[in-house]
Amino acid sequence: MPEAIDESALCTACGLCCAGSIFDFGKLTDDEARDMAARGAPLWSGDGPGLAFPCPLLDGTCCTIYAERPGVCRRFRCGVLRRFDGGELEGEAAMAIIATGRQLDDAVRELLPPEQSVAEARRAWREDPEHWRSLAGPERIAAARLAMALTALNLHLDRHFRSDKKKLTGMA
Ligand code: SF4
Ligand code: SF4
Repeated sequence: MPEAIDESALCTACGLCCAGSIFDFGKLTDDEARDMAARGAPLWSGDGPGLAFPCPLLDGTCCTIYAERPGVCRRFRCGVLRRFDGGELEGEAAMAIIATGRQLDDAVRELLPPEQSVAEARRAWREDPEHWRSLAGPERIAAARLAMALTALNLHLDRHFRSDKKKLTGMA
């Protein structure tokens, strides 16, 4: 008999929040910021300290400091988890949404240079979604492909993972 799907199984199949595919940062307390900086994690400076994503403490889809992770990581519940908890989403359906999210995320990664993260590409796309139009030839084709892949990823993340106030596309 297959094992029942629980929240832990969903998150360890996913990791998209820690990888920076959904958000730019998670808020930290001052003590947490000191701890994460000591662990080599990049900090985000906004109206308080934050953990900048992608988090380097993610290994594959698993947190390497799970028992000591910051409060924001313990508290965060994406839309998939919230609907799963609320009984609106069966485990298999939640897994399928996560698998699609990872496929769309991989499709973006395949178009990026190794040194660029999905989070960085998303920020550039948000600042200038029509950037590809200013280019010509192969550069234009490559940039348009990336814009399409990012749009597909963000539509899926908006529809299933982000809360209403955090959606990026205005279409989900
Ligand atoms: S995005 Fe949701 S399902 Fe995926 S790892 Fe984060 S909390 Fe878990
Ligand atoms: S500390 Fe762990 S749970 Fe938090 S973002 Fe990094 S990898 Fe994810």
